[in-house]
Amino acid sequence: MAALTISDAKRVVIKIGSALLVDRDTGALRADWLVGLASDVAALKANGTDIILVSSGAIALGRGVLALGSGPLSLEEAQAAAAVGQIRLARAYEEALAPHNLTSAQILLTLDDSLDRRRYLNTRATFAALLARGAVPIVNENDTIATDEIRYGDNDRLAANVAVMAGADICVLLSDIDGLYTAPPGTDGATHLPLVEEITAEIEAMAGDAGSGLSKGGMKTKIMAARTATAAGCAMVITQGAVDRPLQALQSGAASTWFTANLTPQQARKAWIGAMKPKGAVRLDAGAVAAIGRGKSLLPAGVAQVEGSFERGDPVRIEGPDGAALGIGLSRYTSAEAQAIAGHHSSEIEPILGYPGRAALIHRDDMAL
Ligand code: GLU
Repeated sequence: MAALTISDAKRVVIKIGSALLVDRDTGALRADWLVGLASDVAALKANGTDIILVSSGAIALGRGVLALGSGPLSLEEAQAAAAVGQIRLARAYEEALAPHNLTSAQILLTLDDSLDRRRYLNTRATFAALLARGAVPIVNENDTIATDEIRYGDNDRLAANVAVMAGADICVLLSDIDGLYTAPPGTDGATHLPLVEEITAEIEAMAGDAGSGLSKGGMKTKIMAARTATAAGCAMVITQGAVDRPLQALQSGAASTWFTANLTPQQARKAWIGAMKPKGAVRLDAGAVAAIGRGKSLLPAGVAQVEGSFERGDPVRIEGPDGAALGIGLSRYTSAEAQAIAGHHSSEIEPILGYPGRAALIHRDDMAL
């Protein structure tokens, strides 16, 4: 089962809603709140936890600058507001995190980055490279180019997808409410639910629909996000974000709703890959079979033969020297490229293909044996 306290987690995604970051009345950034959040992030980083922030606020910040008023925006106005606001949003994080010696990295995603497997793997590799170097990715939807058909739409959904792509153990939604209630909070008999182990139809019915004035997400989008995250082995927690140090508060027992996952992200990922239909096969030599058995990635040097026609990111069968199926993995090369580099040392990849490639043909994280 996935971790259920942030201090046990290796990798945490934290979603910050517009209403926390931007003052509803003035449209100004709530800089003091951000200073507190940065201290929380620094404390978690010092504890060795990888942190990814998914932050809304681009449109809310930009609309004030462009004097677009507080009413509904047309698509073009929202895109223009996002373009103006995002640059300010990124700077605000940079300025808040730099005093803690933390490097911020901006990542703007569109829905295709998680739906298309090749782009998904690419995005995943970028997250891994940044986190390995200690950076704090600051993620938002690429609102400036996203239109309705190609958008996540709300950052609850975006955060859950980022958590899945990055293999996070916990996704924290900092919200303007401290969790899920059996009925709209304030109404008769409404009780707070601290733990949801299964997202049943009854749980879904408890989620109303309303979002606050600045943010797109309501409880319904949060429950959908919980479905996405938990299915991939990532626990999700909703807690009140409008306090000074919200993550410290959560760790000290502030009210929250946890959605548990039954698998770890690694187990869920292996199950996902293991269930795919292979588009081709790679036959290994004995040395490579032994190496992947020890948990190593598959290098081109260990591949004796390539069968079938596949694209980058496609699932392929991994076979022993005698053709016995050992498992399934996602190929980082097309079948044509794989054929060209099979049996060759990784340093020969660039001379053979004419462009640099990734060292592994199948990364160990992308194998289900
Ligand atoms: N991506 C939007 C923004 O930065 C926010 C979407 C949401 O509030 O869920 O303004």
